[in-house]
Amino acid sequence: MRKICIIYTGGTIGMTRTEKGYAPKKGYLGERLETIEDLKDERVPKWDMVEMSPLLDSSNMTVHEWNKIAEEIDKRYNDYDGFVVLHGTDTMAYTASALSFMLENLAKPVVLTGSQIPLCEIRSDARDNLISSMLIAADGRVKEVCLYFGGKLMRGNRTTKYSADGFSAFKSPSYPYLADSGIELKYSEALLRDSDKGEFSIRRLSPVPIGVIKVFPGIQFELFESIMTEKLRGIVIETFGAGNIPGSADSLLPIIKKAFSHGTVITVCSQCPQGTVSLGVYETSSALKDAGAINGYDLTTEAAVAKLYYLFSCGYDSTKIKEMMETDLRGEMSC
Ligand code: ASP
Repeated sequence: MRKICIIYTGGTIGMTRTEKGYAPKKGYLGERLETIEDLKDERVPKWDMVEMSPLLDSSNMTVHEWNKIAEEIDKRYNDYDGFVVLHGTDTMAYTASALSFMLENLAKPVVLTGSQIPLCEIRSDARDNLISSMLIAADGRVKEVCLYFGGKLMRGNRTTKYSADGFSAFKSPSYPYLADSGIELKYSEALLRDSDKGEFSIRRLSPVPIGVIKVFPGIQFELFESIMTEKLRGIVIETFGAGNIPGSADSLLPIIKKAFSHGTVITVCSQCPQGTVSLGVYETSSALKDAGAINGYDLTTEAAVAKLYYLFSCGYDSTKIKEMMETDLRGEMSC
C-alpha cells in the first residue's frame, strides 16, 4: 500500500466562513477530510496530514514558510512515497518554483495544489484537485515538484497563476503539461524530469534583498535609481517581448551599469507569458546585454525570483550566480 503525506499550509482549500470572509482555521481541514468517504476508498493511498502553524493565506508566505515546508518534507522523506502540499493559489507558483530548487536530488513526487472554492462549499473544485494530487503523489512516476490544478499537471517552476476566479487557475505557458486528466490521468512520460543522482537534502533560503521592475511605456527609470543600492543583490527586469526596453533607455543604462558594478545580478525576463528573451536581437535589448544583464530565456518571473533566492542562499559569488542563472538547473528554462 503506497503512503503519502499531505502538508496543509493554509489557503482557500481548507478555509471556512468567518464574519470577515474566508479564513483558515486550525484543525478544521483535518476533521473535514476524515468525513470524506472517498478518501477511505482502497484506490486512494494511505495518507497522513501535517498542519503547519500558523495556517496562512498564501499572500503572507515568505522565505521563512518555504523553509518550513521544505523541513517538513525533509523530516518525513523516507517514510512516504510522495507529498501533497495544500497551498493558497495566490503565491503557489512562487512556492512551487522555490521548492523545486530547495529540494535537492528529489526523487519522489511533491505535488502542490489548492482550490478556488473551499472544500466546505458545494461547488468546490477542491475534491478533484486533492484526490488527483494524492494519486499522482502515490504513483511515483513524477520525481519533481509539480502543481496540479483544474485537470492539468504542470512542472512547478514553469507555472504562473492565470485566473483569479476560474477553475483552470494555472498555466504553464512555455512547457507542455506533464499530465492531462480526462477519463484517465494521461502522463506525457517523455516530458518528465529524471531525478538527479545523489542523496536528497534541502537548501534553506535566506531573505536576500531582491526586486522586480516591470517596464512600461514612459517609464522613468531614474525613479528606480534609489533602490539600486549596494544592498540590492538581485533584480528581475520584466521587459517587453524578447527583452526590449524603451529606446529612451539612456536613463536606465547608467543605473544598470552602477548596479552591475555593485555585483547586483540583473536578470531579464519577458512580460509575454510565452516565448523567450533573446538579448541582442534588437537594438533596444543590446544595451542591456552590453551592461552585463543576464538573459532569462523563458524563465517565469516567479521562477527567476525563486532561483535568485536559491543561488544567493547557496553562497555563490555573483560571477557564479550569473553563470547559473543562464543554466537550466531543474527544468525551469529552455536555453
Ligand atoms: N488568498 C488565497 C490564498 O492564496 C487564495 C486561494 O487560496 O486561492 O491563500
